[in-house]
Amino acid sequence: MLLVERSPEAALADPAFDGREIALTHRSQALLRELDAWDRIPAGDRAPLREARVLDGASPFALSFAPEGRAGVPLGMLVPNHLIRRALFDAVRGADCATVLAGVAVEAVETSPAGGVLRLADGRQVRARLVVAADTRFSQARRQMGIATTQRDFGKSMLVARVTHEKPHGGIATEWFGHGQTVAMLPLNGDLSSIVLTLPAPAIEAMLAMSPEAFGADVTSRTASRWGAMALAGTRHAYPLVATYAHRFVGTRFALIGDAAVGMHPVTAHGFNLGLGGAHLLGSAIRTAQARGRDIADPGGLLRYEMAHRRASWPLFAATNAIAGLYTDDRSPARLLRGAVLRLGAALPPVRRLVTARLMEAG
Ligand SMILES: Cc1cc2nc3c(=O)[nH]c(=O)nc-3n(C[C@H](O)[C@H](O)[C@H](O)COP(=O)(O)OP(=O)(O)OC[C@H]3O[C@@H](n4cnc5c(N)ncnc54)[C@H](O)[C@@H]3O)c2cc1C
Repeated sequence: MLLVERSPEAALADPAFDGREIALTHRSQALLRELDAWDRIPAGDRAPLREARVLDGASPFALSFAPEGRAGVPLGMLVPNHLIRRALFDAVRGADCATVLAGVAVEAVETSPAGGVLRLADGRQVRARLVVAADTRFSQARRQMGIATTQRDFGKSMLVARVTHEKPHGGIATEWFGHGQTVAMLPLNGDLSSIVLTLPAPAIEAMLAMSPEAFGADVTSRTASRWGAMALAGTRHAYPLVATYAHRFVGTRFALIGDAAVGMHPVTAHGFNLGLGGAHLLGSAIRTAQARGRDIADPGGLLRYEMAHRRASWPLFAATNAIAGLYTDDRSPARLLRGAVLRLGAALPPVRRLVTARLMEAG
């Protein structure tokens, strides 16, 4: 297997902090263990997520998601994205299962029933029996393969940064929908959280440019001192909020995985989890084809991967977009509706159990 990655090898071996804290489900943790990556993430950098609460504006009402009947078992674990990347890269090197060609981009992809060809930025050509693209939600390979995408631009950006705060978070993640802004606080170890702010792009630019002191004061006031005074603890990062869903996940000798297949809005924290699940499904399809003496790009196997991954991802993608749309819309009907949705969710324990079970599923 050959892995082509445009970042230089040094950036893969020791990636820089990118602001993302990934809420890993129990299933993702199990998959990372299987891939020999989990133990490569320092235990002190994994933070248990004990409960998630959703708040709406100034309303004292909170919708809570907490594990039921499994004392001491967290909903999930928060792990910084760059440490997941580092652990996976270490695991690949340790397993000696792939050659990594780093520091060179793929410029063009072409496939036919006879095989696939990648043209690299340094002029080299690589031939492959199966081409798998995981080149971001704006995948160039997907476009070159003529695969269309449903795209939703939320017209806002997200700023992520670590902050220290005076009051403890108790291991509780809070998603707070206020007027004109959404704030999420993700609990890390100690009195440290990742603050995630959703705002129009110019407001995000202004917050990136603030001095650390002014930023601390601004987020303290935006969170109404709920966690006491806050101080910036590291770098700030911004991401545009665009969700994408590929119309097809496979083609002739070709498959899409990760964000290139499904680029989720981060509000429900499922993008990486889905990507890992999808890669596992594709791996199973390839192993089954091999075990039956078939080509690894067997169209039947690729189609089974596509169907299974669509089944797993489409309902979540649609629900996440609906939630993100509802909570970033400040017109009064949406505001009324989200208050009602919160109350309905709280009154219907099965809804809460469903969300909780999805996070905790181990299978
Ligand atoms: C703020 C934020 C918070 C998030 N929180 C969560 C969460 O809590 N839980 C969760 O499950 N998910 C979360 N996500 C989503 C998660 O980060 C992504 O789903 C995941 O990182 C996508 O991984 P990927 O490998 O598919 O794509 P990427 O991480 O985008 O990696 C793509 C790689 O392809 C390389 N590449 C691109 N083009 C080329 C080319 N032409 N040639 C060679 N290499 C190329 C790039 O250099 C890059 O290394 C969050 C996302 C954001 C923005």
